[in-house]
Amino acid sequence: MRTLLILGGTGEARALAARAGGWRVVTSLAGRVRDPRLPEGEVRIGGFGGPDGLAAWLVAEGVGAVVDATHPFASRISASAAAATRATGVPLLALHRPGWREQAGDDWRRVPSIEAAAAALPVLGGRVMLTTGRQSLAAFADLGLYFLVRTVDPPSTPLPERHHLLLDRGPYTVEGEAELMRAHAIDVLVTKDSGGTMTAAKLVAARQRGVPVLMVDRPARPADVPLASTVDGAVAWLRGTGAE
Ligand code: NAP
Repeated sequence: MRTLLILGGTGEARALAARAGGWRVVTSLAGRVRDPRLPEGEVRIGGFGGPDGLAAWLVAEGVGAVVDATHPFASRISASAAAATRATGVPLLALHRPGWREQAGDDWRRVPSIEAAAAALPVLGGRVMLTTGRQSLAAFADLGLYFLVRTVDPPSTPLPERHHLLLDRGPYTVEGEAELMRAHAIDVLVTKDSGGTMTAAKLVAARQRGVPVLMVDRPARPADVPLASTVDGAVAWLRGTGAE
């Protein structure tokens, strides 16, 4: 049985691990989240030591295919996967859910980076719901605005002076998000364009409340890596690699 390495940390990665029949499946997690949801199959935790370390691991484990099912904003591991598979000749597929699409009634401003979101904030609102993840918080720490900060695990970087910290990881409901925005008098939402359904309720709540959304665009993906936007697509690609 050939070995499939899934670079994980997403619901898509867990779904693929459950459906990759005919493969020995190893899912790799970064080890950032204290209590991760674990997939079926084998799990290894922690970085590989950059592209060279990942390439060595692919060779040592006799890996036959890699699916990069990491979060669309996890750009370093995606670059590492592209370089390591190029060096070793192991087939690589990126599995990333589509980004969110603006609908009638939305008021979105797309920005290219977290820093651009922080720069754009002060003219948009003064009471911010911030859901861009704990690694992004430093960019907002010096803004004199009120922040409702929601992260999965406690942040380890400085927080804005005026803030309320909420530890949660969804899925969320529109009613719950609307109540949060009401309770904290939120007048602007900042989010990454993560896509998917688990955390999309905040966008509906923002539309209903009439507040603007600062949407941080996805980082560029490595060139020449085929992309599947669904788990079905990734399963079909695996079949095409000839191991089933
Ligand atoms: P990143 O910046 O792309 O990666 C930083 C380093 O962490 C990588 O160079 C790699 O270390 C290690 N790493 C990342 N993902 C890994 C994996 N699946 N298995 C083994 N090592 C991994 O990643 P990130 O943005 O910090 O995200 C870390 C993890 O959290 C990812 O697995 C991602 O799917 C998940 N996640 C991220 C976000 C987000 O918004 N960024 C949201 C939800 C979940 P080495 O160079 O030593 O190999």
